[in-house]
Amino acid sequence: MNVLQNYINGRWVEVEGERLAVHNPATNEVLAQVPLSDAGQVAQAANAAAAAFEGWRRVPAVERIQYLFELKNLMEIAFDDLARTITLENGKTLAESRGELHRAIENVEVACGIPTLMQGDFSEDIAVGIDEYLIRQPVGVAAVIAPFNFPGMISFWFLPYALATGNTVVIKPSERCPLTMQQVFALLDELNLPPGVVNLVNGGPVAVNAILDHPAIAAVSFVGSTPVARHIYSRGAANGKRVQAQGGAKNPLVVMPDADMAMTTRIVADSAFGNAGQRCLAASTVIVVGEARQTFPQAIAEAAAQRVVGFGLDEGVTMGPVITPQSKERIQGLIEKGLADGAQLLLDGRRAEVPGYPRGNFIKPTILLDLPPESEVARTEIFGPVLTLLRVETLDEAIALVNGGDYGNMACLFTESGAAARQFRYEAQAGNIGVNIGVAAPMAFFPFSGWKDSFFGTLHGQSRHAVEFYTQTKVVVERWHRDWSRQF
Ligand code: NAD
Repeated sequence: MNVLQNYINGRWVEVEGERLAVHNPATNEVLAQVPLSDAGQVAQAANAAAAAFEGWRRVPAVERIQYLFELKNLMEIAFDDLARTITLENGKTLAESRGELHRAIENVEVACGIPTLMQGDFSEDIAVGIDEYLIRQPVGVAAVIAPFNFPGMISFWFLPYALATGNTVVIKPSERCPLTMQQVFALLDELNLPPGVVNLVNGGPVAVNAILDHPAIAAVSFVGSTPVARHIYSRGAANGKRVQAQGGAKNPLVVMPDADMAMTTRIVADSAFGNAGQRCLAASTVIVVGEARQTFPQAIAEAAAQRVVGFGLDEGVTMGPVITPQSKERIQGLIEKGLADGAQLLLDGRRAEVPGYPRGNFIKPTILLDLPPESEVARTEIFGPVLTLLRVETLDEAIALVNGGDYGNMACLFTESGAAARQFRYEAQAGNIGVNIGVAAPMAFFPFSGWKDSFFGTLHGQSRHAVEFYTQTKVVVERWHRDWSRQF
């Protein structure tokens, strides 16, 4: 049996103690055992990273990024292997795994711009003969705590920037999908970075809390569900760390009657059912405005029913399983609750059977119509292939519903009207906005801008935000003795 290891101080380390089985969600076969590290094992990683920090920050930025150029190269060579591993442990289709890896590599590329991105500011002669300037210095040891749904991408919203700016890093992947990072660390090992610059700790909540409490860790980047994000933010901050914590979502998409219905239907179906709905930018609720109410529900139900559900490595499959049997049970329970709360079932994906995969965690696309907006399910992140449809008369009503939710990860509008698009962009309370786009995922050179209960902190992942998060500013006021005011 493949037992995963931690990677600490430049070496693979076997971990004694409790372990958890990692399953293929399409078959429930056990793929590996992942160790659940304790506070002692987290301390080894944090201390190794702290010891490496002073050396690493002195490596010039132009040299630090050479490791990233090489990492990009190695990731491209290992691309197909990594994508296969993501599909095996997470269930998404191979095409979706490849898509996520492209986004991971894109972040490595952007972080290669650090020599420019972390430049400071300089003001000459703030008084006669006195100059003032700002420099950016790394914060120290940075920890990354990742969720299960993008095992290859999410750590890369942080890792390349933290390294390039001169920090050392401890990564804790999801215990449900830890295999991809094991492979990524095999690539990082090939880079021959100074020992301790990158460290991998496997585990669950015990390891997370040890990270939050360890005094050597200065910064924590988290992505996961909202209750855990809130916990990370408050406990990390109470321990004096800088924290960015990206949480869950419940994303509304608004369809106006003038939208291009064929395009909109296709895009909405991809948004709701891609990655089996286990995406923090998945469409959760479609608010259909005016006349679109007549045609859109049937059109989206037809598009959803065309998804080919199965094992993500099989040819022709367009939607994989959800992550665990417990997750499947929870999602089906929420569908039932939605029906009990008054929704109609437009498409029923429960009791999904996939030939050849009797033990997989499959749910087919499900659509609930007219779920009362105030019901619990309408406010709950389902995180599965379930779309709810609401019908309203006007754009103002739709925006009120968008803004009435607790989350603010993404909101999208489908229309041909520039005025409607502007009003929506201006008024919608969400940090990532799509106009005729169903998954408004920011490129690596933009921040991943969740709002409200989707984000706790100030600076988001990716882009300049990441550069600022991983650096602290130092302002220097400087005078050299000489009579600078003499007349020339
Ligand atoms: P999760 O919150 O269960 O787990 C995330 C991480 O937190 C894991 O590493 C896990 O080990 C750790 N963790 C879990 N419970 C903990 C606890 N009680 N105490 C301390 N640590 C704990 O999330 P998940 O199920 O792996 O991922 C899905 C969630 O992530 C969804 O809510 C989704 O919306 C969210 N997500 C958000 C974004 C974003 O950018 N906002 C991106 C991807 C996923």
